[in-house]
Amino acid sequence: MATPRPGAGFEFEENKMRIAAGLIFASAVSLLALSAAWSQALPPAKGAAAAPQAAPAPAPPPAPVSTRPPCNNPNALGIGRTVEIDTTGGPGFGFEHFKELDFLRDKEVVLTFDDGPWPVNTPAVLKTLAEECTTGIFFPIGKHATYYPEILKQVMAAGHSIGSHTWSHAALVNKKLTEQQRKDEIEKGFSAVKWALGGKAPAPFFRFPALQHPPEMVTYLGSRNIAIFSCDLDSFDFKASKAQTIIDNVMRKVEKNGKGIILMHDFQKHTAEALPELLKKLKAGGYKVVAMRAKTPVQTIAQYDEDIVKDLKLPTVSSRPVSSVVQTISE
Ligand SMILES: [Zn+2]
Repeated sequence: MATPRPGAGFEFEENKMRIAAGLIFASAVSLLALSAAWSQALPPAKGAAAAPQAAPAPAPPPAPVSTRPPCNNPNALGIGRTVEIDTTGGPGFGFEHFKELDFLRDKEVVLTFDDGPWPVNTPAVLKTLAEECTTGIFFPIGKHATYYPEILKQVMAAGHSIGSHTWSHAALVNKKLTEQQRKDEIEKGFSAVKWALGGKAPAPFFRFPALQHPPEMVTYLGSRNIAIFSCDLDSFDFKASKAQTIIDNVMRKVEKNGKGIILMHDFQKHTAEALPELLKKLKAGGYKVVAMRAKTPVQTIAQYDEDIVKDLKLPTVSSRPVSSVVQTISE
C-alpha cells in the first residue's frame, strides 16, 4: 500500500531546520545494553539481573502479557544490539530523508513492517521472527488495528516495537486535506493502535504513508515528540510478484549500503513468504539486527481515544441492507 514518492527533498530541509533549532540531537539514541544474547531482549524472566532503578515506576496500564519463548535456535539471527530512542523533538531516522542520526554500525540492520495488522501475513511474519529470535518495528494502519486488534496484541506480546502509520493510510501531502485532517490522521492512528493494544500506548514512532513527508506535519510531529521513520533500504515488496524478488532487492541494497533500516510490509503475502530465507541470508552475510525501543510511550490525546471508541460503535448499529436481514420465506 504504497505509491511512488514525489518531492522527497524539501522535507529534508525542513527537518534540518528543526534540528538547527536545537530540538533534536545528542540524546536521541542511547545505547541500552550491548549484548548479542537473545536473553537480553527477553521480558521479565531475567528481571533480577536488570539494571538498578532509581525509583519505582508507576504501575503500567494493562497490556498483553509477553508469551515470547526462550530462543531454542542456536543458528538464529537473534538481536545484536538494543537501542533506546529519546523521541523528544521528533528525531528523523532513515537516510532516504534524514541524514543526521547515523547510529547504525557497519553490518547492522533494523527490520520494519508497515500496513498491518493483517490476517495470515502478519502472523506468518511473527512466526518467522520468533524462529529467528529476532525483532522489528511494526507501523500498523489505525483502521487495520481496529479490524484485527488480536493480531496486533500478538505483535506486542512477542516483544516487538509498535508505532503508527496514520488512521487510514491517507497521503498527508494531499492538498485536499486540511491541516486539521492531517493531524487527525496522525492522532487517530495512534489512538486506534492504543485501543487495539488494550489501552497500552505504542511507541512514539511514526511512518508517513508512501514516505511522503509534508513539512508542516514533520514540524507537528516534532512538537508531539514523535520520531519519524523513513528508511535506508526500501524492499519494494509491495511491487514484487514473488518472494525471491524481495530477497534479492534487500540483499542487493544492504550489501551496497553495508547497513540500514529496511522497509517491508507485514501486510504483503510475498513479504511473509520471503522473510524466512531473507533472515537466513542476513545471518549468513554477517548482519546483526538492532532493536529500537522507545524511552517512553506516545502520549495520545484523550479526545481521539474517545472518538475511536465512539466510531467503533457505529457499525454495530446495523449497516446491513434490509434484504440481508429480512427475507420472505413464505407468503
Ligand atoms: Zn504504508
